[in-house]
Amino acid sequence: MSYTGPTDLYIDGEWVAAESNETFTTEDPATEQAYADVAKAAEEDVDSAVSAASEAVDRDGEWRSLDPRERGERLRAMADAIEDRKEEIVRVESRDNGKTPFEATLDVDMVIDTFRYYAGWTDKIQGDEVPVPGNRLNYTVREPVGVTGHVIPWNYPFQLAGRSLAPALACGNTAVLKPSSTTPLSALYFAVAAEEAGLPDGVLNVVPGRGSTAGNRLTEHPDVDHIAFTGSTGVGKGVMERASQNVTGVTLELGGKGPNIVFPDADLEAAAAGCHYGIFMNAGQMCWAGSRLLVHESVHEEVVEQVVERAEGTPLGSGIDDGGRMGPTVSESQQQEVLDYIETGKAEGATVATGGGVPEDKDAGHFVEPTVLTDVTNDMTVAREEIFGPVLSVIEFADQEEAIEIANDSPYGLMAGIWTSDLNTAHGVAEYLDYGMVSINEYPVTQPQTPFGGFKQSGNGREQGTEAIHEYTQTKNVNVNLE
Ligand code: NAP
Ligand code: MG
Repeated sequence: MSYTGPTDLYIDGEWVAAESNETFTTEDPATEQAYADVAKAAEEDVDSAVSAASEAVDRDGEWRSLDPRERGERLRAMADAIEDRKEEIVRVESRDNGKTPFEATLDVDMVIDTFRYYAGWTDKIQGDEVPVPGNRLNYTVREPVGVTGHVIPWNYPFQLAGRSLAPALACGNTAVLKPSSTTPLSALYFAVAAEEAGLPDGVLNVVPGRGSTAGNRLTEHPDVDHIAFTGSTGVGKGVMERASQNVTGVTLELGGKGPNIVFPDADLEAAAAGCHYGIFMNAGQMCWAGSRLLVHESVHEEVVEQVVERAEGTPLGSGIDDGGRMGPTVSESQQQEVLDYIETGKAEGATVATGGGVPEDKDAGHFVEPTVLTDVTNDMTVAREEIFGPVLSVIEFADQEEAIEIANDSPYGLMAGIWTSDLNTAHGVAEYLDYGMVSINEYPVTQPQTPFGGFKQSGNGREQGTEAIHEYTQTKNVNVNLE
């Protein structure tokens, strides 16, 4: 095994083995070789992490009541520590998840930006003075919620952990992070950065372990005050149910079935490039994947031809030293699930315009060919369910009204794309889309400054931007009688 980074749990400022001493082995999905042995947190380890985080909330002057400028400095120092190790984290993320170093670099850069963005927030989290009747002073204060629990999936392990940790810490909370057991390694680098930045013991704890044990315990724990869960809609519903037992707040970032809507007046070359990127980056394992291409019937043939050409020109590989631009899916079971969806699509009447199977020239790795399915209607399984792999379902529409209807006919509502050169079409369609994020002539896109989250079963609450500050604080109202 070539991995030489951290493998222990990080609890209360110490690197420790699991109480049971158990470990689990992760795999490099591009080679199918074992990559690392990692300490396996169980319920008792999560309990230790939560109690360390609770004690750190209460320690006066150390974090929650620290001079906010100083808290900002520590977050900035975490960003610097991550930047100093960027190459190493990129390599680890790429080996652990299968994404190419190009993709992993985007993720690490996004985390650095996010920490710097929220470092600037620490001394700007303020309340209001409320004009009330009578001779009173009435004001609000935004206080941290306390202990935040972060449960993160395997598709963007580093980026999604950073996305919710940065605002939670900026607001003065403490945190327990449970990465996916499929991709636990990069999360441990947040602990390395916290140590280097001088975060007080217990402010950030990292406990790799299985969802059904460690994840379950973290989300049912009575001393956790807010849960940031990113993952599938099915598991997210269970998290919400368990959180309800303690009336704990939840931010849920769940699945999607993003429509990319191409109107005939669009720059078709740009649209084809965007739609290709929007489904085949990260091997299609994206909540916000543009997995449905809704294209006007008059340009259907031309757009499909261009997307297919791009799909066929995408070199598959880990990207580490083989020039690959699209990596494998994360695991054998994920690969099988994606292949099963393609078969279901064919059985329900879809046509495979390109791809559809496992690449012939690979003797290892959980690769799936970039696949484009045409003749799809919106009632087919491949249009309704999140495939979470490199499979694009193409659906034709006749006019704007029909495009909006098809786009909204989904249990999900995360991100939608519009491709047009007409301002009225762009803003008019954006208004009617039941999606938490709409992007025009570019897909997908998000920034630390912009709210990220979905309508309907894509989630609850928002990450990023000002909205995350609201998620990770609670409002206290203070009334003073001045008579
Ligand atoms: P998942 O199976 O729901 O797992 C997500 C996380 O939850 C993992 O850390 C998992 O641990 C843990 N978990 C599993 N069972 C649990 C339980 N009973 N209690 C508490 N935690 C539990 O999702 P995934 O397959 O890893 O990721 C893919 C999904 O994430 C897709 O649906 C995708 O759309 C969604 N996603 C959403 C966003 C967004 O921002 N909206 C972003 C990225 C991904 P183990 O992995 O160790 O089992
Ligand atoms: Mg899973």
